[in-house]
Amino acid sequence: MSIRILLVEDEAPIRMFTKINLENEGFTILEADTGESGIAIARAEHPDIVILDLMLPGISGYEVCETLRTEMPHIGIIMLTAKSQEIDRILGLEKGTDDYMVKPFNPHELALRVRSLIRRLRLDPGDEEPKTANSPQMIQDGPFVLDQYARVFYKNGEEIDLTPTELAMVRMFISRPGKALSREEILHQIWGEDNHGETKIVDVNVRRIRSKIEDNPAKPAYLETVWGVGYRWKKNDA
Ligand code: CA
Repeated sequence: MSIRILLVEDEAPIRMFTKINLENEGFTILEADTGESGIAIARAEHPDIVILDLMLPGISGYEVCETLRTEMPHIGIIMLTAKSQEIDRILGLEKGTDDYMVKPFNPHELALRVRSLIRRLRLDPGDEEPKTANSPQMIQDGPFVLDQYARVFYKNGEEIDLTPTELAMVRMFISRPGKALSREEILHQIWGEDNHGETKIVDVNVRRIRSKIEDNPAKPAYLETVWGVGYRWKKNDA
């Protein structure tokens, strides 16, 4: 089935241009020109991915993102930001966007970012990940269980709502307990080879994951920092 993308963009020329390019890539596109109508369409149509402009008339892309994340934690969100200021991108990531594009953008690059996000939505292994013949359905570690087929993560038997990016990162970590992974490795593995090269996106997502899985996010016991390198999933007794 074709991936359905909701495009929330108030500038008609950009919306048309983006729609045509993504349709040429084989995606089905739904359109909205305000945040309010974007939320309504997302509720009614359940798209796989939302491409969300930050600067919208009425409620902003941030507010749309917050609402979508609360109601649909598993939806993919890519934010379009007109400003190149880092602060906008970081704030968007902190609100749970999976990726971002800075305007003006190359439509080919947007399509690459969409495909990378689809791999996370499906929990497809990245190119660099060693492909094992029979990857287990359940990965268990300490109080955690990851059901790879259902794409659900549990702590002490309770489901934890993770974004597609957070879930892909947790899968990457929990499959390699005890191994220190550099920010660059994580970036390439999760966002793809053709990523922006900005490792801050890794740190923001680690922070978000910790806030959801750690008993005390300020003193992480599961997803540890490896100073000067990156991060490591601490080995836990089953
Ligand atoms: Ca706009």
